[in-house]
Amino acid sequence: MNVREIGSFGGSKEIVDALSSAGVTEFYPPQALAIKAGLLAGDESFVISSPTASGKTLIAEIAALKVFFERRGKIVYTVPLRALAREKYDDFTRKYAGTGLKVAQSTGDYDSAAPWLRDADIIISTNEKIDSLIRHRAPWLPGVSLVVADEVHLMGDESRGPTLEIVLTRLMWRNTRLRLLALSATIPNAAEIAQWLGARLVQSDWRPVPLREGVYYGEAVIFNDGTVTWVERESPDDAVSIALDTIRDGGQALVFVNTRKAAESTALKSSSKIGPLLGDQEKKMLEKLSKELAAGSLEPTRLGKKIAELAESGVAFHHAGVLSSQRRLIEDAFRANRIKLVAATTTLAMGLNLPSRRVIIRDWWRYESGAGMRPLPVLEIKQMAGRAGRPGFDKYGEAVLVARNKRDERHLFENYIKGEPEDIESQLENESVLRAHILASIAGGFTKNREDLNDFLAHTFYARRKDKVRLASMTDGIVHFLIREDMVKADMGLSATRFGHRVSELYIDPLTGVMLRDALRTPEEKLPFPLLHMIARTPDMMVLQLKKKDVDRVLEVYSANAKALLIPDEERHPTEELLGQIKTAWLLVQWVSETPEDGITGLFDVGPGDLHTIVELSDWLLYAASEIAKIFNLKKEQRIISFLRIRVAYGVKEELIPLVALKGIGRIRARNLFNAGYKTREDIGKATVAELEKIPTVGRKIAEDIRRQAILSTEQSA
Ligand code: ADP
Repeated sequence: MNVREIGSFGGSKEIVDALSSAGVTEFYPPQALAIKAGLLAGDESFVISSPTASGKTLIAEIAALKVFFERRGKIVYTVPLRALAREKYDDFTRKYAGTGLKVAQSTGDYDSAAPWLRDADIIISTNEKIDSLIRHRAPWLPGVSLVVADEVHLMGDESRGPTLEIVLTRLMWRNTRLRLLALSATIPNAAEIAQWLGARLVQSDWRPVPLREGVYYGEAVIFNDGTVTWVERESPDDAVSIALDTIRDGGQALVFVNTRKAAESTALKSSSKIGPLLGDQEKKMLEKLSKELAAGSLEPTRLGKKIAELAESGVAFHHAGVLSSQRRLIEDAFRANRIKLVAATTTLAMGLNLPSRRVIIRDWWRYESGAGMRPLPVLEIKQMAGRAGRPGFDKYGEAVLVARNKRDERHLFENYIKGEPEDIESQLENESVLRAHILASIAGGFTKNREDLNDFLAHTFYARRKDKVRLASMTDGIVHFLIREDMVKADMGLSATRFGHRVSELYIDPLTGVMLRDALRTPEEKLPFPLLHMIARTPDMMVLQLKKKDVDRVLEVYSANAKALLIPDEERHPTEELLGQIKTAWLLVQWVSETPEDGITGLFDVGPGDLHTIVELSDWLLYAASEIAKIFNLKKEQRIISFLRIRVAYGVKEELIPLVALKGIGRIRARNLFNAGYKTREDIGKATVAELEKIPTVGRKIAEDIRRQAILSTEQSA
């Protein structure tokens, strides 16, 4: 279908022009299907279910352009991950700059109604951020007329699914005006999801590049179309040999494995083989990339160094321990066909939006805490496989599962290649999430009594698919808890107390709110370690696992601090759970004691990416704690926590707090300035640029900049 043909289906000339300047001339089949089904004609909601890279985003763009040109209100575009929001933001701004469409991205700060978004036409956001904006009753929300929800099949994901399900329920419940466009991978129960949302289903199996799926065993890949590819055994690691086979042929490879170590070692093993295949021009580009990767953070870490070194040979690894800025550089370099192989963990597969000629799935099982080693769901394998084949580069894509023995070979064929993906299931039985959403629903004034609340929950996907009786009894328990903890009042109907309101807005689990309040009210002195432990034990924290080799050291830290912990006496025993929290608090203590990043990552066996995640979570939880202290009029506690929060945000000792307030000054530069005798902003204001620029890591530009800031701030306080 040609772009100009949309005139007969409700499209305007403005839309045709915008699409043409974005370089679109012909529609892909799923796009044509959606247009013929009435995408541009009415106000119906749609679920679009089709494979990766089949052009779902453009369907959303067309619907958005229509709303924009007809001035029918705002558009919200929501995705599951921040990294994906950035991609969509770049896409929209690049493609439609000429139309005047104002694009905004909103993914940070969960305690804000983001009033500045008033002027945007389209707001790209994450599911969590939209949830928080709804809780804050952002003033521009009623003006939204189209919501695009990307990757809705993730509703079946244990950790990310429940928030998405609640956001969708909330948006559609008792609201007939809003139009929803839900985009999904190919899933068996797409029709059921469409029915649930009151939407029309558009389904297609079309792929821009044909896909062959096969199993490797005994030096050959047997594909489902009957073809066989022989693979020379160039490495003891089969996955590496299979990757090399395609790279020699001008393709790229993504290899999925189940641990971080395996991702790193796969990249390392392939580097010596791939490096020699590169041309001079390619090598030069990769050297540049390597330098960029190394400069990714001020503090050198072993992991960062490894990544930078490997990049020179055109290979990389990708997992949650890698800094997100470095992950981004790697993804861009892969898209530019500079990096030839990426070895990634299966856990992050969703965020890795990279098409590649060959996708090799070496590990199709994964360790899950509480469950041990589990085989991956068919849906997940199909999602990874679906990334095979680069449009415009490859004539076909190949997904290869690696078998270790003959039995595996048959199993992989029967179960994964011929197998149907599982139905998407609701994950709402996650108590912590349900607790938070029930409070949010009451605090936001969406449900004013038990009948409302029951009716709202009856509209969830959970209620449709699963046990309504169980949902009702869980709800009873949660409402009871919220009343007992003084977050909800049940006089005439249900309403939130001030505490309940604030907890909901702060976007924390109500149980976290209770734990913080109770800890802050204890008579004990509020020292840094106990405060850090206070946040480490909340359900919103990412707690480090206690390993055997840690036990002795962590027990020592426990003994030194046990008495000061802000917890009831009966919980003061060194259980494994408590020791995991102690280990996490101890990592934070190292961080605010200015232990170098590399020292911390080595000592705690975590990657720089994990450290940053923990720091970010702690910053948010300390903010929540200081806000709760404010509600209960605990002024001294509030002040102490605010200082600690700055220390955590920057990873500094108390004496550096005045210096990190300057823009462009992190923990390293602040320490260098302090050691050179510049201990306050006043000291910096009095120094000359020539003196400041001599200090390591400072340099002329920063010297000028911080001197200006310092003078300004001392003038203001004078
Ligand atoms: P999905 O959302 O289904 O995974 P995308 O929307 O990301 O797929 O599309 C994959 C690629 O195809 C993108 O690079 C996009 O620009 C391109 N594309 C989509 N529709 C068209 C079209 N009609 N003509 C040319 N390229 C298209």
